[in-house]
Amino acid sequence: MADVRLAGIGMTSARTRDRLVQRLREQGISNPAVLERIRNVPRHIFVDEALGSRAYEDTALPIGFGQTISQPYIVARMTEALLEGGEVNNVLEVGTGCGYQTAVLAPLVAHVNTIERIEPLYARARQRLKELGIRNVRFRHGDGALGWKAHAPFDGILVAAAPLTVPETLLKQLKVGGRLLVPIGPEGKQELVRFTRRDQRIERESLGPVAFVPLLGGTA
Ligand code: SAH
Repeated sequence: MADVRLAGIGMTSARTRDRLVQRLREQGISNPAVLERIRNVPRHIFVDEALGSRAYEDTALPIGFGQTISQPYIVARMTEALLEGGEVNNVLEVGTGCGYQTAVLAPLVAHVNTIERIEPLYARARQRLKELGIRNVRFRHGDGALGWKAHAPFDGILVAAAPLTVPETLLKQLKVGGRLLVPIGPEGKQELVRFTRRDQRIERESLGPVAFVPLLGGTA
């Protein structure tokens, strides 16, 4: 039964997933390893059963607690942008949510450290990734805006919720050559930004407009 659930049937079948991959390709996602992950990660197990039939649409969907599972295009775009420009071993993810982005990313890098501020989401994500046999992820219930000093510095940091300005603490936890991907700005006016740490300076590139939930302080 577990195998049938993961493989998917009907609206969660291989054909439905292929259509999603084709759509992302048309929208400019070109990294084959990233597209393969989008094809293989069973997104339907990350949402409520009632929403399962919509899991392979390219949209964000509710996951409870006022939060959403990220849109597949955004997950693919952020993962691709993180992997461009040098080896990525040790990654920090801020905003685990349901764990979908974590599941797409984890097999493409050596280690993922992921932080979620809402306890039930943290616990569920942890359980789901275990179910999928993904073992190179360290989970934490906490405030990801503070980073994770014990496991820093990182080759890549991926933030799945939007602060109003770039968190300096996260920039400090990047290695030289490391990339920080973060949506910045108030709701309705955010842009995805990639910061790259160089020897003496920080490079900033805008990757276009996006819509994320806000990055909040503390835990819940
Ligand atoms: N990529 C995730 C998207 C989750 S939405 C997925 O695919 O499911 C963003 C998540 O960031 C929410 O779960 C929210 O609770 C969390 N979040 C917001 N501020 C945070 C903070 N300071 N530290 C950790 N998590 C945070």
